[in-house]
Amino acid sequence: MSDKPIYDITPFTHLDYPGKLACIVWFCGCNMRCMYCYNSDIVFAKKGHYTEEDVYEFLDRRVGLLDGVVLSGGEPTLHDLLPICRRIRKMGFSIKLDTNGLNTDLIRELVEAGLIDYIALDFKAMNGKFGYVTGSSRYQNFAQTLDFLVANGAPFEVRTTVHADLLQP
Ligand code: SF4
Repeated sequence: MSDKPIYDITPFTHLDYPGKLACIVWFCGCNMRCMYCYNSDIVFAKKGHYTEEDVYEFLDRRVGLLDGVVLSGGEPTLHDLLPICRRIRKMGFSIKLDTNGLNTDLIRELVEAGLIDYIALDFKAMNGKFGYVTGSSRYQNFAQTLDFLVANGAPFEVRTTVHADLLQP
């Protein structure tokens, strides 16, 4: 993994973390290839523009100004989020995770460690179309993540991108 895994930092948003003023940390790389993806620069980036330390330095300057941090991408769970979330949490920020749900094990670890306050889980398509829409054959991983979140009671939302050519009601 590159020493600069962060593609970009959006310093301020009041739209991406319900009820909180937050920043967004955009992680490089993704394990899907969605047909409608608008983040291809991030998905295919082998290297970003920022190190983890850059993120912590940025957050240091935002203590008391922001409530939370959104981990997004790309797919943030391709990265070792446990130490990153511990560090962000220590600084006093709430953490929201945007994920496609394929890395069930890491999501489970993060939730069980109490490191994630809110999850936005992407629903891409039902099993029959999942591979076509995402380029991934791992629908079962998404389903396991959804099952875990429902059973666990962790605060989360499921969201989807409706592309009329790809997804029918
Ligand atoms: S999961 Fe998100 S970032 Fe990854 S390819 Fe699909 S739309 Fe793009």
